[in-house]
Amino acid sequence: MLYVYIEKLLIGSNFNQDNYDQIMDLNQTFVSHLSCSLTGEKYDASKIHNLSKIGKPLLVNYHLDQIKERITKPEISQTNLNGLWKYSFLLPVEKENRVSLNEVLTPLVTLNNVKKKIDFSGDLIVKDESYLPTASFKARGLCLAVSMAKQLGIKHMAIPTNGNAGAALAAYCARANIKCTVFCPEDTPEINVREINALGADTYLVNGFINECGKIVFEGKEETGWFDVSTLKEPYRIEGKKTMGLELAEQFNWKLPDVIFYPTGGGTGLIGMWKAFNELEELGWISKKPRMVAVQSDGCAPIFKAWKENKEFANLWENPKTVASGIRVPIAVGDFLIIRALNESNGFSITVSDEEILNDRDFISKQDGLLMCPEGAATFSALKKSLKQGLVSNNEKVVLFNCASGLKYPLSDVNSYIDKNKKVDYSKF
Ligand SMILES: *Cc1c(COP(=O)(O)O)cnc(C)c1O
Repeated sequence: MLYVYIEKLLIGSNFNQDNYDQIMDLNQTFVSHLSCSLTGEKYDASKIHNLSKIGKPLLVNYHLDQIKERITKPEISQTNLNGLWKYSFLLPVEKENRVSLNEVLTPLVTLNNVKKKIDFSGDLIVKDESYLPTASFKARGLCLAVSMAKQLGIKHMAIPTNGNAGAALAAYCARANIKCTVFCPEDTPEINVREINALGADTYLVNGFINECGKIVFEGKEETGWFDVSTLKEPYRIEGKKTMGLELAEQFNWKLPDVIFYPTGGGTGLIGMWKAFNELEELGWISKKPRMVAVQSDGCAPIFKAWKENKEFANLWENPKTVASGIRVPIAVGDFLIIRALNESNGFSITVSDEEILNDRDFISKQDGLLMCPEGAATFSALKKSLKQGLVSNNEKVVLFNCASGLKYPLSDVNSYIDKNKKVDYSKF
Protein backbone atom coordinates (compact mmCIF):
# COMPACT_ATOMS: atom_id res chain seq x y z
CA MET A 1 0.00 0.00 0.00
CA LEU A 2 2.74 2.41 0.99
CA TYR A 3 4.78 1.31 -2.03
CA VAL A 4 1.89 2.03 -4.36
CA TYR A 5 1.45 5.40 -2.71
CA ILE A 6 5.10 6.34 -3.16
CA GLU A 7 5.10 5.13 -6.75
CA LYS A 8 2.11 7.33 -7.45
CA LEU A 9 3.92 10.28 -5.96
CA LEU A 10 7.00 9.57 -8.05
CA ILE A 11 5.45 8.85 -11.39
CA GLY A 12 2.31 10.93 -11.29
CA SER A 13 -1.16 10.36 -10.04
CA ASN A 14 -2.65 8.44 -12.96
CA PHE A 15 -0.14 5.59 -13.10
CA ASN A 16 -2.05 2.33 -13.18
CA GLN A 17 -0.57 -0.79 -14.74
CA ASP A 18 -3.82 -2.72 -14.71
CA ASN A 19 -5.44 0.07 -16.67
CA TYR A 20 -2.95 -0.28 -19.53
CA ASP A 21 -3.08 -4.07 -19.56
CA GLN A 22 -6.87 -3.98 -19.66
CA ILE A 23 -6.95 -1.55 -22.55
CA MET A 24 -4.42 -3.64 -24.49
CA ASP A 25 -6.47 -6.76 -23.83
CA LEU A 26 -9.59 -5.38 -25.46
CA ASN A 27 -10.41 -6.23 -29.03
CA GLN A 28 -10.54 -2.56 -29.93
CA THR A 29 -8.24 0.04 -31.40
CA PHE A 30 -8.02 3.83 -31.25
CA VAL A 31 -8.13 4.22 -35.06
CA SER A 32 -10.44 7.00 -36.25
CA HIS A 33 -10.02 6.90 -40.04
CA LEU A 34 -7.57 6.79 -42.95
CA SER A 35 -6.60 9.93 -44.84
CA CYS A 36 -4.93 10.75 -48.15
CA SER A 37 -1.40 11.92 -47.37
CA LEU A 38 -1.62 14.70 -49.96
CA THR A 39 -5.18 16.02 -49.75
CA GLY A 40 -6.31 14.84 -46.30
CA GLU A 41 -9.46 13.30 -47.81
CA LYS A 42 -10.95 10.78 -45.35
CA TYR A 43 -11.39 7.04 -45.94
CA ASP A 44 -13.18 4.33 -43.96
CA ALA A 45 -10.60 2.29 -42.02
CA SER A 46 -12.83 -0.79 -41.86
CA LYS A 47 -12.55 -1.29 -45.64
CA ILE A 48 -9.66 -2.62 -47.77
CA HIS A 49 -7.65 0.12 -49.50
CA ASN A 50 -4.52 0.56 -51.54
CA LEU A 51 -3.75 4.15 -52.63
CA SER A 52 -6.08 7.14 -52.35
CA LYS A 53 -8.21 8.18 -55.34
CA ILE A 54 -5.43 10.45 -56.59
CA GLY A 55 -2.82 7.68 -56.26
CA LYS A 56 -1.10 8.79 -53.03
CA PRO A 57 -0.41 6.80 -49.82
CA LEU A 58 -3.12 6.54 -47.18
CA LEU A 59 -2.22 7.23 -43.56
CA VAL A 60 -3.84 5.88 -40.38
CA ASN A 61 -5.31 8.46 -37.98
CA TYR A 62 -5.97 7.82 -34.28
CA HIS A 63 -8.13 9.33 -31.56
CA LEU A 64 -5.04 10.76 -29.87
CA ASP A 65 -7.19 12.70 -27.40
CA GLN A 66 -8.67 9.43 -26.10
CA ILE A 67 -5.24 7.78 -25.88
CA LYS A 68 -3.95 10.78 -23.97
CA GLU A 69 -6.79 10.48 -21.51
CA ARG A 70 -6.44 6.77 -20.91
CA ILE A 71 -2.73 5.81 -21.13
CA THR A 72 0.44 7.16 -19.55
CA LYS A 73 4.11 6.71 -20.43
CA PRO A 74 5.03 4.67 -17.32
CA GLU A 75 2.21 2.21 -18.02
CA ILE A 76 3.75 1.42 -21.40
CA SER A 77 7.24 1.06 -20.03
CA GLN A 78 6.16 -1.57 -17.54
CA THR A 79 3.91 -3.76 -19.63
CA ASN A 80 4.72 -7.41 -20.26
CA LEU A 81 3.82 -7.16 -23.94
CA ASN A 82 6.86 -7.69 -26.13
CA GLY A 83 8.40 -5.74 -28.97
CA LEU A 84 6.20 -3.61 -31.14
CA TRP A 85 2.95 -4.95 -29.68
CA LYS A 86 3.47 -2.93 -26.52
CA TYR A 87 2.55 0.10 -28.63
CA SER A 88 -0.72 -1.49 -29.73
CA PHE A 89 -2.65 1.58 -28.60
CA LEU A 90 -1.00 3.41 -31.54
CA LEU A 91 -1.55 0.53 -33.99
CA PRO A 92 -4.61 -0.51 -36.01
CA VAL A 93 -4.62 -4.24 -35.16
CA GLU A 94 -7.27 -5.82 -32.93
CA LYS A 95 -5.80 -8.21 -30.37
CA GLU A 96 -7.19 -11.40 -31.94
CA ASN A 97 -5.64 -10.52 -35.31
CA ARG A 98 -2.05 -10.04 -34.16
CA VAL A 99 0.19 -12.22 -36.34
CA SER A 100 3.46 -12.49 -34.48
CA LEU A 101 6.84 -14.20 -34.71
CA ASN A 102 7.84 -12.79 -31.33
CA GLU A 103 9.16 -9.44 -32.48
CA VAL A 104 11.74 -8.08 -30.03
CA LEU A 105 12.81 -4.67 -28.85
CA THR A 106 15.93 -4.13 -30.98
CA PRO A 107 19.05 -3.06 -29.10
CA LEU A 108 21.02 0.17 -29.26
CA VAL A 109 24.66 -0.73 -29.93
CA THR A 110 27.38 1.85 -29.33
CA LEU A 111 30.40 2.04 -31.65
CA ASN A 112 33.00 3.27 -29.22
CA ASN A 113 36.15 2.11 -31.02
CA VAL A 114 34.90 3.49 -34.31
CA LYS A 115 34.06 6.76 -32.58
CA LYS A 116 37.62 7.19 -31.33
CA LYS A 117 39.10 6.34 -34.72
CA ILE A 118 37.09 9.08 -36.46
CA ASP A 119 37.55 11.60 -33.62
CA PHE A 120 33.86 11.97 -32.98
CA SER A 121 33.03 13.05 -29.46
CA GLY A 122 29.22 12.82 -29.56
CA ASP A 123 27.19 9.63 -29.08
CA LEU A 124 27.40 7.10 -31.91
CA ILE A 125 24.61 4.58 -31.58
CA VAL A 126 23.29 1.91 -33.93
CA LYS A 127 19.71 0.70 -33.71
CA ASP A 128 20.35 -2.90 -34.70
CA GLU A 129 17.30 -4.21 -36.51
CA SER A 130 18.93 -7.51 -37.46
CA TYR A 131 17.39 -9.06 -34.33
CA LEU A 132 13.91 -9.08 -35.85
CA PRO A 133 12.22 -12.11 -37.45
CA THR A 134 13.70 -12.79 -40.93
CA ALA A 135 16.67 -10.68 -39.80
CA SER A 136 15.55 -7.34 -41.17
CA PHE A 137 13.37 -4.40 -40.20
CA LYS A 138 11.01 -5.26 -43.04
CA ALA A 139 9.47 -7.58 -40.43
CA ARG A 140 7.92 -4.58 -38.66
CA GLY A 141 6.01 -3.38 -41.71
CA LEU A 142 4.96 -6.75 -42.99
CA CYS A 143 3.95 -7.95 -39.51
CA LEU A 144 1.44 -5.11 -39.45
CA ALA A 145 0.38 -5.50 -43.09
CA VAL A 146 -0.31 -9.21 -42.66
CA SER A 147 -2.09 -8.72 -39.33
CA MET A 148 -4.34 -6.14 -40.99
CA ALA A 149 -4.87 -8.46 -43.96
CA LYS A 150 -6.09 -11.06 -41.48
CA GLN A 151 -8.33 -8.49 -39.83
CA LEU A 152 -9.80 -7.43 -43.18
CA GLY A 153 -10.19 -10.98 -44.55
CA ILE A 154 -7.55 -10.84 -47.32
CA LYS A 155 -6.56 -14.31 -48.61
CA HIS A 156 -3.71 -13.68 -51.07
CA MET A 157 -0.91 -11.07 -50.95
CA ALA A 158 1.68 -10.15 -53.59
CA ILE A 159 4.78 -7.99 -53.43
CA PRO A 160 7.69 -6.71 -55.53
CA THR A 161 10.90 -6.89 -53.48
CA ASN A 162 14.66 -6.46 -53.45
CA GLY A 163 14.72 -9.33 -50.95
CA ASN A 164 13.96 -8.48 -47.35
CA ALA A 165 10.34 -7.39 -47.78
CA GLY A 166 9.56 -10.58 -49.66
CA ALA A 167 11.06 -12.75 -46.93
CA ALA A 168 9.15 -10.93 -44.20
CA LEU A 169 5.87 -11.12 -46.12
CA ALA A 170 6.40 -14.83 -46.79
CA ALA A 171 7.07 -15.55 -43.12
CA TYR A 172 4.04 -13.71 -41.75
CA CYS A 173 1.75 -15.01 -44.51
CA ALA A 174 2.78 -18.58 -43.68
CA ARG A 175 1.81 -17.96 -40.08
CA ALA A 176 -1.52 -16.38 -41.01
CA ASN A 177 -2.41 -18.99 -43.67
CA ILE A 178 -2.46 -16.36 -46.39
CA LYS A 179 -1.23 -17.18 -49.89
CA CYS A 180 1.90 -15.22 -50.84
CA THR A 181 3.37 -14.42 -54.27
CA VAL A 182 6.71 -12.61 -54.58
CA PHE A 183 8.49 -10.96 -57.55
CA CYS A 184 12.23 -10.15 -57.30
CA PRO A 185 14.59 -8.50 -59.77
CA GLU A 186 16.72 -11.35 -61.15
CA ASP A 187 19.89 -9.94 -59.57
CA THR A 188 18.44 -9.91 -56.04
CA PRO A 189 21.03 -11.51 -53.67
CA GLU A 190 20.58 -15.26 -54.00
CA ILE A 191 20.30 -15.81 -50.26
CA ASN A 192 17.22 -13.55 -50.15
CA VAL A 193 15.52 -15.32 -53.04
CA ARG A 194 16.16 -18.72 -51.49
CA GLU A 195 14.89 -17.49 -48.13
CA ILE A 196 11.61 -16.27 -49.66
CA ASN A 197 11.14 -19.57 -51.44
CA ALA A 198 11.98 -21.57 -48.31
CA LEU A 199 9.31 -19.65 -46.41
CA GLY A 200 6.68 -20.98 -48.78
CA ALA A 201 6.00 -18.03 -51.08
CA ASP A 202 5.49 -18.57 -54.82
CA THR A 203 8.74 -16.88 -55.85
CA TYR A 204 9.52 -15.40 -59.28
CA LEU A 205 12.63 -13.74 -60.71
CA VAL A 206 11.97 -10.88 -63.13
CA ASN A 207 14.37 -9.35 -65.67
CA GLY A 208 13.67 -5.84 -64.37
CA PHE A 209 14.00 -3.47 -61.41
CA ILE A 210 11.72 -3.38 -58.37
CA ASN A 211 9.36 -0.83 -59.96
CA GLU A 212 8.96 -3.17 -62.95
CA CYS A 213 8.18 -6.05 -60.58
CA GLY A 214 5.65 -3.68 -58.99
CA LYS A 215 3.98 -3.16 -62.35
CA ILE A 216 3.39 -6.91 -62.64
CA VAL A 217 1.77 -6.97 -59.20
CA PHE A 218 -0.40 -3.96 -60.01
CA GLU A 219 -1.56 -5.21 -63.40
CA GLY A 220 -2.40 -8.68 -62.08
CA LYS A 221 -4.66 -7.47 -59.30
CA GLU A 222 -7.96 -7.94 -61.03
CA GLU A 223 -7.32 -11.33 -62.54
CA THR A 224 -5.65 -12.92 -59.51
CA GLY A 225 -7.52 -11.13 -56.74
CA TRP A 226 -4.28 -10.72 -54.78
CA PHE A 227 -3.74 -7.74 -52.51
CA ASP A 228 -0.86 -5.43 -53.55
CA VAL A 229 1.52 -4.95 -50.57
CA SER A 230 4.04 -2.76 -52.45
CA THR A 231 5.84 -0.15 -50.34
CA LEU A 232 3.38 2.58 -49.28
CA LYS A 233 0.67 1.26 -51.60
CA GLU A 234 -1.33 0.09 -48.60
CA PRO A 235 -1.71 1.99 -45.31
CA TYR A 236 -0.23 -0.40 -42.75
CA ARG A 237 3.45 -1.07 -43.41
CA ILE A 238 4.13 2.52 -42.31
CA GLU A 239 2.40 1.77 -39.00
CA GLY A 240 4.76 -1.16 -38.43
CA LYS A 241 7.85 0.84 -39.32
CA LYS A 242 6.58 3.64 -37.11
CA THR A 243 7.35 1.46 -34.10
CA MET A 244 11.08 2.12 -34.67
CA GLY A 245 10.37 5.71 -33.68
CA LEU A 246 8.23 4.68 -30.69
CA GLU A 247 10.95 2.30 -29.47
CA LEU A 248 13.65 4.93 -29.89
CA ALA A 249 11.62 7.42 -27.88
CA GLU A 250 11.20 4.96 -25.04
CA GLN A 251 14.80 3.68 -25.21
CA PHE A 252 16.07 7.26 -24.97
CA ASN A 253 13.76 7.89 -22.05
CA TRP A 254 11.50 10.13 -24.16
CA LYS A 255 14.38 12.48 -25.01
CA LEU A 256 15.14 11.73 -28.64
CA PRO A 257 18.64 11.94 -30.17
CA ASP A 258 19.73 14.92 -32.28
CA VAL A 259 20.02 13.21 -35.65
CA ILE A 260 18.75 9.98 -37.21
CA PHE A 261 20.49 8.60 -40.33
CA TYR A 262 18.16 6.38 -42.33
CA PRO A 263 19.06 4.46 -45.53
CA THR A 264 16.19 5.45 -47.75
CA GLY A 265 14.62 3.34 -50.47
CA GLY A 266 10.84 3.63 -50.48
CA GLY A 267 11.17 5.63 -47.28
CA THR A 268 8.61 3.73 -45.21
CA GLY A 269 10.79 3.84 -42.12
CA LEU A 270 11.65 7.51 -42.33
CA ILE A 271 8.05 8.50 -42.99
CA GLY A 272 6.88 6.10 -40.29
CA MET A 273 9.28 7.40 -37.62
CA TRP A 274 8.36 10.99 -38.43
CA LYS A 275 4.69 10.06 -38.06
CA ALA A 276 5.48 8.42 -34.71
CA PHE A 277 7.32 11.50 -33.44
CA ASN A 278 4.41 13.73 -34.44
CA GLU A 279 1.93 11.46 -32.68
CA LEU A 280 4.09 11.37 -29.54
CA GLU A 281 4.40 15.14 -29.65
CA GLU A 282 0.64 15.48 -29.89
CA LEU A 283 0.27 13.14 -26.92
CA GLY A 284 2.61 15.48 -25.05
CA TRP A 285 5.15 12.70 -24.44
CA ILE A 286 8.13 14.26 -26.22
CA SER A 287 9.17 17.85 -26.69
CA LYS A 288 12.01 17.75 -29.19
CA LYS A 289 12.13 15.83 -32.46
CA PRO A 290 15.34 14.71 -34.21
CA ARG A 291 16.66 15.88 -37.57
CA MET A 292 15.93 13.18 -40.14
CA VAL A 293 18.56 12.30 -42.74
CA ALA A 294 17.74 10.33 -45.90
CA VAL A 295 20.85 8.43 -46.96
CA GLN A 296 20.98 7.25 -50.57
CA SER A 297 23.59 5.78 -52.88
CA ASP A 298 25.41 7.73 -55.61
CA GLY A 299 24.08 5.12 -58.01
CA CYS A 300 20.41 5.57 -57.05
CA ALA A 301 19.52 8.93 -55.53
CA PRO A 302 16.10 10.14 -56.69
CA ILE A 303 15.14 11.57 -53.29
CA PHE A 304 18.50 13.31 -52.81
CA LYS A 305 18.16 14.93 -56.24
CA ALA A 306 14.61 16.13 -55.68
CA TRP A 307 15.39 17.43 -52.17
CA LYS A 308 18.51 19.25 -53.43
CA GLU A 309 16.53 20.86 -56.24
CA ASN A 310 13.81 21.90 -53.81
CA LYS A 311 11.18 19.81 -55.57
CA GLU A 312 8.19 18.22 -53.90
CA PHE A 313 8.20 15.06 -56.02
CA ALA A 314 11.09 12.97 -57.40
CA ASN A 315 11.71 11.71 -60.94
CA LEU A 316 12.46 8.13 -61.92
CA TRP A 317 16.20 7.37 -61.51
CA GLU A 318 17.46 5.66 -64.68
CA ASN A 319 19.77 2.62 -64.33
CA PRO A 320 19.82 2.38 -60.53
CA LYS A 321 22.95 0.65 -59.33
CA THR A 322 24.26 -0.02 -55.82
CA VAL A 323 25.47 -2.90 -53.65
CA ALA A 324 23.00 -1.71 -51.04
CA SER A 325 20.09 -3.51 -52.69
CA GLY A 326 17.56 -2.38 -50.07
CA ILE A 327 17.94 1.23 -51.21
CA ARG A 328 18.01 0.48 -54.93
CA VAL A 329 14.59 2.04 -55.41
CA PRO A 330 14.41 4.24 -58.52
CA ILE A 331 11.01 5.76 -57.75
CA ALA A 332 9.03 6.07 -54.52
CA VAL A 333 5.31 6.78 -54.28
CA GLY A 334 5.97 8.45 -50.89
CA ASP A 335 8.67 10.77 -52.29
CA PHE A 336 6.90 13.95 -51.10
CA LEU A 337 6.40 12.50 -47.62
CA ILE A 338 10.12 11.75 -47.28
CA ILE A 339 11.06 15.23 -48.48
CA ARG A 340 8.45 16.79 -46.19
CA ALA A 341 9.93 14.97 -43.18
CA LEU A 342 13.45 16.10 -44.10
CA ASN A 343 12.34 19.72 -44.38
CA GLU A 344 10.04 19.78 -41.35
CA SER A 345 12.75 18.26 -39.19
CA ASN A 346 15.55 20.53 -40.47
CA GLY A 347 17.22 17.41 -41.80
CA PHE A 348 18.77 16.71 -45.18
CA SER A 349 19.58 14.07 -47.78
CA ILE A 350 23.08 12.89 -48.66
CA THR A 351 24.60 10.23 -50.91
CA VAL A 352 27.55 7.86 -50.56
CA SER A 353 29.41 5.56 -52.96
CA ASP A 354 29.47 1.77 -52.99
CA GLU A 355 33.19 1.91 -52.30
CA GLU A 356 32.64 3.97 -49.13
CA ILE A 357 29.83 1.64 -48.07
CA LEU A 358 31.87 -1.57 -48.36
CA ASN A 359 35.00 -0.05 -46.82
CA ASP A 360 32.99 1.25 -43.88
CA ARG A 361 31.19 -2.04 -43.40
CA ASP A 362 34.55 -3.79 -43.07
CA PHE A 363 35.95 -1.02 -40.88
CA ILE A 364 33.05 -1.14 -38.40
CA SER A 365 33.14 -4.95 -38.25
CA LYS A 366 36.82 -4.96 -37.47
CA GLN A 367 36.71 -2.10 -34.97
CA ASP A 368 33.57 -2.87 -33.03
CA GLY A 369 32.47 -6.38 -33.99
CA LEU A 370 29.20 -5.36 -35.61
CA LEU A 371 28.77 -6.77 -39.12
CA MET A 372 26.32 -4.33 -40.67
CA CYS A 373 24.39 -4.71 -43.90
CA PRO A 374 25.57 -2.42 -46.72
CA GLU A 375 22.53 -0.15 -46.23
CA GLY A 376 23.41 0.20 -42.55
CA ALA A 377 27.06 0.88 -43.34
CA ALA A 378 25.88 3.57 -45.77
CA THR A 379 24.47 5.52 -42.82
CA PHE A 380 27.92 5.56 -41.24
CA SER A 381 29.56 6.70 -44.49
CA ALA A 382 26.93 9.42 -44.59
CA LEU A 383 27.67 10.48 -41.02
CA LYS A 384 31.40 10.86 -41.80
CA LYS A 385 30.57 12.97 -44.84
CA SER A 386 28.09 15.06 -42.84
CA LEU A 387 30.66 15.75 -40.13
CA LYS A 388 33.14 16.92 -42.79
CA GLN A 389 30.52 19.17 -44.35
CA GLY A 390 29.45 20.61 -40.99
CA LEU A 391 25.91 19.21 -41.30
CA VAL A 392 26.33 17.42 -37.96
CA SER A 393 28.45 18.77 -35.14
CA ASN A 394 31.00 16.81 -33.24
CA ASN A 395 29.13 16.60 -29.94
CA GLU A 396 25.72 15.47 -31.13
CA LYS A 397 23.77 12.35 -30.33
CA VAL A 398 23.52 10.32 -33.55
CA VAL A 399 21.52 7.20 -34.34
CA LEU A 400 22.35 5.05 -37.36
CA PHE A 401 20.10 2.26 -38.62
CA ASN A 402 21.37 -1.24 -39.26
CA CYS A 403 18.35 -2.49 -41.15
CA ALA A 404 19.28 -6.13 -41.68
CA SER A 405 21.79 -8.78 -40.75
CA GLY A 406 25.11 -8.40 -42.57
CA LEU A 407 24.98 -12.17 -43.06
CA LYS A 408 22.34 -11.75 -45.76
CA TYR A 409 24.89 -10.20 -48.14
CA PRO A 410 27.92 -11.47 -50.06
CA LEU A 411 31.12 -11.25 -48.01
CA SER A 412 34.81 -11.43 -49.01
CA ASP A 413 36.33 -14.78 -49.93
CA VAL A 414 38.81 -16.42 -47.57
CA ASN A 415 41.89 -17.76 -49.35
CA SER A 416 44.31 -18.68 -46.54
CA TYR A 417 44.74 -22.44 -46.54
CA ILE A 418 46.41 -24.95 -44.27
CA ASP A 419 47.31 -28.51 -45.32
CA LYS A 420 46.95 -30.73 -42.26
CA ASN A 421 49.49 -33.18 -43.70
CA LYS A 422 52.27 -30.62 -43.88
CA LYS A 423 54.23 -28.99 -41.09
CA VAL A 424 52.41 -25.81 -40.06
CA ASP A 425 54.53 -22.69 -40.34
CA TYR A 426 53.74 -20.98 -37.04
CA SER A 427 56.00 -18.06 -37.74
CA LYS A 428 53.32 -16.45 -39.89
CA PHE A 429 50.62 -16.05 -37.23
C1 LIG B 1 13.97 -2.01 -47.43
C2 LIG B 1 15.30 -1.76 -46.95
C3 LIG B 1 15.79 -0.45 -46.81
C4 LIG B 1 14.98 0.76 -47.16
O1 LIG B 1 13.89 0.93 -46.30
P1 LIG B 1 12.67 1.88 -46.64
O2 LIG B 1 11.99 2.13 -45.37
O3 LIG B 1 11.81 1.14 -47.62
O4 LIG B 1 13.23 3.12 -47.26
C5 LIG B 1 17.07 -0.29 -46.32
N1 LIG B 1 17.82 -1.34 -46.00
C6 LIG B 1 17.39 -2.61 -46.09
C7 LIG B 1 18.28 -3.72 -45.68
C8 LIG B 1 16.11 -2.86 -46.56
O5 LIG B 1 15.69 -4.13 -46.66
